[in-house]
Amino acid sequence: MSNTLPFERPLASDRDKPDWQLAMKDLVSDPAELLSMLQLAAVERPASLAAQEAFPLRVPRAFVARMARGDWSDPLLRQVWPAVEETREQTGWVDDPLQEQAAALAPGILQKYPGRALLTAAPHCAIHCRYCFRRHFDYDANSPGRQAWEQSLESLRQDLSISEAILSGGDPLANSDRQLAWLVNQLEAIPQLHTLRIHTRLPVVIPARVTDALLDLLRESRLRVVMVLHVNHARELDADCEAAISRLRDAGLILLNQSVLLAGVNDSVAALRDLSERLFSTGILPYYLHLPDRVAGTAHFDVSEARGCELVAALRAGLPGYLVPRLVREIPGQSSKTVIA
Ligand SMILES: *Cc1c(COP(=O)(O)O)cnc(C)c1O
Ligand code: SF4
Repeated sequence: MSNTLPFERPLASDRDKPDWQLAMKDLVSDPAELLSMLQLAAVERPASLAAQEAFPLRVPRAFVARMARGDWSDPLLRQVWPAVEETREQTGWVDDPLQEQAAALAPGILQKYPGRALLTAAPHCAIHCRYCFRRHFDYDANSPGRQAWEQSLESLRQDLSISEAILSGGDPLANSDRQLAWLVNQLEAIPQLHTLRIHTRLPVVIPARVTDALLDLLRESRLRVVMVLHVNHARELDADCEAAISRLRDAGLILLNQSVLLAGVNDSVAALRDLSERLFSTGILPYYLHLPDRVAGTAHFDVSEARGCELVAALRAGLPGYLVPRLVREIPGQSSKTVIA
């Protein structure tokens, strides 16, 4: 698939590619290979071919390395395994529960909330999270070419009410540093913007993505840069992540985390407490804990609102307030995310 952001001559050979781009080309995408790496047998939980076809397995080797061997209940494995449960239809679980297709300001730009515009700046991710609310998103219809991007950015420039640009995707850091520099420079030239936010999972799943060129770009930007990472379980953060995160902090970024509350991954007080503490020791503050969106194929990850409230109350009783994420749900048509607890 081509990248969304335009204008780059392909590099002559892989030799010239940075490590993280090689890692992006060398993802684990064959369920049989993943199982053999983890010493698991497919007979117990075969991969669903239909799930594979709808949203193929995709997981970086650095992330697989953090999974336990021989354990089907591993919380990292559960986030990526194309399970048979995904093919069960469930009333109420639909392709576009957030009605995002209706929120387009211009091609590649969504605006749901006052003051903030979200740019779908990449059509793909380094990892496929089974519960993803954008797993059915029509990236082809929302992946403008260069001219269309320039027009979309022009409509952002015309809208004086927007002061924060949020790069999302897919994963915006799936773009090369040169592509990102182009986009960030375009945004810097829009006077009313003062904040650049980047929603990304890449520094966690492939820590080598935090390159010197990326750090220079963000450090030198006139925009205040907030990075919102996406970690669901303490075990996702290893020593390489810690080193990458500390470089991002040294570049002056504010680092926050959003998690999704997922059955069988982090729906216990112990898992959520460990996550908050691990985030903190890594230099990241918890921001949001999302109740799962009702996306078709993800009902087996659902956690009820009542259980979510119970978990957050227990966290609040045991942790400093700044380590308790806000439990939120996204309700279409509201002017912000809805805080549940
Ligand atoms: C979640 C979201 C935002 C950001 O909301 P915050 O509450 O500021 O984190 C912005 N735009 C869209 C479309 C979103 O889904
Ligand atoms: S990294 Fe984010 S956008 Fe990509 S699949 Fe995972 S949850 Fe979805």
